[in-house]
Amino acid sequence: TWPEYWQTNKDNIDKYKKSENDKFDMSSLANKISIWEGDITTLEIDAIVNAANESLLGGGGVDGAIHRAAGPYLRKECATLKGCQVGEAKITGGYKLPAKYIIHTVGPRGEKPDKLRDCYINSLELAENNEIKTIAFPCISTGVYGYPQQAAAEVALRHVLLHLEHHPKISRVIFCLFLSTDKEIYEKLLQKYCPQK
Ligand code: ADP
Repeated sequence: TWPEYWQTNKDNIDKYKKSENDKFDMSSLANKISIWEGDITTLEIDAIVNAANESLLGGGGVDGAIHRAAGPYLRKECATLKGCQVGEAKITGGYKLPAKYIIHTVGPRGEKPDKLRDCYINSLELAENNEIKTIAFPCISTGVYGYPQQAAAEVALRHVLLHLEHHPKISRVIFCLFLSTDKEIYEKLLQKYCPQK
């Protein structure tokens, strides 16, 4: 049965349901989600997601860390992409990172749930189109862009789970949490959504 939280948010869920009888298989979905605390640049995985800015030419926070770790050729490839709008996603190679690809997305400034959802969904779709099976997300927008952590985590987890339900090509999504406060938030939310985790 659907978790209580989702039953109270049917307007959102209906957009993703194929039919009235559609049910979430929580146990198989839960197996595709992991949370991990640490630096996203260290992950040996198909793709990591970068919380970039519209220029795609590097910045602070996780963006700066990714560009530093990937090396200068990343900026060269990014310069050919003509920027990225809020909510969109673009892909590059991983260069010196252990990850094969980097998916760059630009989060909203402040609490704009539709735009934040677009970041997660467009990143996942771009991943699927590039045969990416394992992907790690940072907490998009919750640093310099000021999205409240709890609200952002709810958007992230809900829409990633909803998306995975209908797009089985991705085998693992890792929420890479840099702050212990985010780790606590995600652990609690996962318990609520996927009690078996
Ligand atoms: P935004 O501009 O989208 O708010 P930030 O980079 O300022 O992006 O922050 C987004 C999140 O990334 C924050 O939770 C921040 O703590 C986290 N973060 C910073 N450095 C790293 C890193 N090396 N790996 C993973 N997450 C990171």
